[in-house]
Amino acid sequence: MWASCCSHLHHRPPLVYQSPHLLRASAVSPSKPTSQNRAIQSLCLRGQLRQALLLLDREPAPSQRTFEALILSCARHGDPESSSLSSLVYRRLVHEGLDQDPFLRTRLIEMYSQLGSLSDARHVFDETRDRTIFVWNAILRALAMADCGEEVFPLLRKMGEEGNQPDSFTLTCVLKACVARSSRADLASARVKQVHAFAVRQGLSSRVHVATALVDVYAKLGELALAQAVFEGIPEKNVVSWSAMIGCYARNEMGFEAIELFREMVGCGEAAAPNPVTMVAVLQACGSLAALEQGRAVHGFVLRQRLDGILPVGNALIAMYARCGRLDAARRTFTAIGARRDVVSWNSLIAGCAAHGLGGDALRLFEEMLSAGVQPSSLTFVSLLGACSHGGLVEEGRRIFNSMASKHGVAPQAEHHACMVDMLGRAGELEAAARVVEEMRIEPGPTVWGALLGACRIHSQVELAERACARLFKLEPCNAGNYAVLAGIYAGAGLWPEVARVRKMMEAKALVKLPGRSWIEIGRHALLFVAAEGNSQGDQLQTFVCKLAAEMKSSVGYVPETRAVIYDLREEEKERILLGHSEKLALAFGLINSGPGEVIRITKNLRLCEDCHSFTKFVSKFTKREILVRDVNRFHHFRDGQCSCCDYW
Ligand code: ZN
Ligand code: ZN
Repeated sequence: MWASCCSHLHHRPPLVYQSPHLLRASAVSPSKPTSQNRAIQSLCLRGQLRQALLLLDREPAPSQRTFEALILSCARHGDPESSSLSSLVYRRLVHEGLDQDPFLRTRLIEMYSQLGSLSDARHVFDETRDRTIFVWNAILRALAMADCGEEVFPLLRKMGEEGNQPDSFTLTCVLKACVARSSRADLASARVKQVHAFAVRQGLSSRVHVATALVDVYAKLGELALAQAVFEGIPEKNVVSWSAMIGCYARNEMGFEAIELFREMVGCGEAAAPNPVTMVAVLQACGSLAALEQGRAVHGFVLRQRLDGILPVGNALIAMYARCGRLDAARRTFTAIGARRDVVSWNSLIAGCAAHGLGGDALRLFEEMLSAGVQPSSLTFVSLLGACSHGGLVEEGRRIFNSMASKHGVAPQAEHHACMVDMLGRAGELEAAARVVEEMRIEPGPTVWGALLGACRIHSQVELAERACARLFKLEPCNAGNYAVLAGIYAGAGLWPEVARVRKMMEAKALVKLPGRSWIEIGRHALLFVAAEGNSQGDQLQTFVCKLAAEMKSSVGYVPETRAVIYDLREEEKERILLGHSEKLALAFGLINSGPGEVIRITKNLRLCEDCHSFTKFVSKFTKREILVRDVNRFHHFRDGQCSCCDYW
């Protein structure tokens, strides 16, 4: 399919394309347009399509350029009446005998694609006799844009059979199709690598748009090293390539790298000025790291570049502040956006309330959203159900879940069921949670079983946990987290032979539990801590943690929660392991390096363990400090010996 060389290197044909059909069909040479032709073109440019069409009726010989202007204007119009206007243009095109002009047919395909009418685009393509590379690229792009990825590949074969070789723009369309939602996920990686190899053979791989498309698809496939290698090989990076790489890091939990690359990009000056896409990616990175100071600095940059009026940037700011634990700032941004708010703006703020356990606020926002006439999406309900779960609002959660399909036309998916299982599980209604799983009309996936397993951990339910794991080990054989949770549940119940059995299973599969990582932002620097597992006794922070634990034991009654340690050891050994947890090291660092009134903000990549949770509660009381911890599930706001999660997380 990717055979010999290809000579077509241009994306679009030159504006005046001297088609043989055109010269045969039209009495008026396009190089000498009549004044009427010029008038039609200028009306089109100004968006006055109807007036242009009135004038077209009186023009005896409309030129190719005039038709192009009309088609582009129809595409820009983009409202329901454009289809009737575009068919007027098409009829006249046929009448003039210009309908087989390959240049105009390319434009027609693009127009129908933009108007969302893929069947019309496909019809124009099928009826085209002289299929130039531009015609091919137009239909391939239309299919890729309409998320009809799987249709691209047979067409590509046909393109080869008809003797057309793919050019660099064909490749970008095909790459997009490889990772389209509708395309086969199991073939994506192999297909992308095939296109990449072809691009290298043809000397097209360093062209900035091909390379950028490669970075983008490798990012989507989670192939970071390949994305990086392609990015570094681009000789002249433009804003799109920078944004693709920053977005790649942001999406793949490499926030530090994303922010670093953004700094480098800004350092390059005018040549690659960040655009809204860049800002959305870097704000996403700040949010995932809970890097508030970095996020604020980026917000400042957004204001200086006057990008704050752009809705996706505003939405990214809401999400960033909410994820950094500054719901107040998220609300201010939300208010500032005003009436332009879309479903993403509402979802971001509702998700923020959910993460803070503010169920009531989330429900009120939802009501406001409905009154504002904004249609909720599937994601809105994930956030809402999450808010009910973290806020302990079981009845409201049930009501919302039951109203999803009937009232809002959103069919509950696996993740909504997972939220219900989580909510009922937290509330101690384990039987009801198990029933939700049994009664699902769709196949319960790993998220659902994982939620049930999480509920079993909270309530130390060995039998139900075993049932959930029997499914999870089949669905996700390589997810070390599931094995670790089951081992923890066994350990809590003192079933040491069972713990050993699970650990053997992990060893047999060479699975390693994701190491606990916590970070804390001091000034504009984020410091990362990794679990010490008790082997760095000499470390200054470790000593600080041990001293603090000892003082709290004797003065405020702190008792280490050793139940979930999955090693059958003496109590002192278990305590030593717990004291090496990354969040305790980060907390110690925060206590040493910040002033009395400052809120200490810590982020953890996993769920906060029972002992760290209890330890932090005691620290908040003992040191009279406010501590905000974001774990993988939610925010924990520790104040005066209490946590905002009320000990369910
Ligand atoms: Zn811990
Ligand atoms: Zn908590």
